Amino acid sequence: TTFKDLGVRKNYVKSLKELGITKPTEIQEQAIPMLLASAKDFIGLAQTGTGKTAAYGIPALHKVNPSVEAIQVLILSPTRELVQQIKKQLFKFTKYNDAKVFVEGVYGGEKIDIQIRNLKRTTHIVVATPGRLVDLLDKNCIDLKQIKTIVLDEADEMLSMGFKQDLNTILNATSGTRNVWLFSATMPEDLKEIVKRYVSKDAMRIE
Ligand code: AMP
Repeated sequence: TTFKDLGVRKNYVKSLKELGITKPTEIQEQAIPMLLASAKDFIGLAQTGTGKTAAYGIPALHKVNPSVEAIQVLILSPTRELVQQIKKQLFKFTKYNDAKVFVEGVYGGEKIDIQIRNLKRTTHIVVATPGRLVDLLDKNCIDLKQIKTIVLDEADEMLSMGFKQDLNTILNATSGTRNVWLFSATMPEDLKEIVKRYVSKDAMRIE
């Protein structure tokens, strides 16, 4: 199987190839066609290092309409380092795009003013740690009204780091027409609660 077989657009096949990513991993082979084809919620049980960033990142990029100047995809991740890594990978995936897709990263430990200023530029995808995102929401400095997709990456880690309330706040602030794509290595009780509350019952599931 190739990425083209999975329905990935030519420009992304090309950038993946340049990154040495030519043969889809198991999770990519399963998740990419599902996430491209339907507008349903998704739950994927996956360890790190399995290629899950591309498994959700490539479909997420396909969902963005670059001519709409609004945040359309929100990716939540537990740490600053992971946010930076995800942002960097997405940037590399878009190397051969005709229309630019702008990705911004927000996380604690850096001056919020700089991030607020950056968010005033066109931004299509935000990668964030939950705590800093809630700070930006409190300050009314981020508009999530046009979000179509929320990715919870390493959801179990976010909970064990104490982000439960922040996740509830963010998911409540974005209820409506958005889909949730949840990735987690494990499914502890507090994550089951989040799933029950915010993920639709007919979500697609892979292990
Ligand atoms: P991740 O699990 O998303 O953190 O990815 C782990 C590493 O595997 C990253 O360095 C990716 O660039 C790389 N990778 C992801 N998918 C593939 C693939 N299909 N073939 C080879 N390497 C990959």
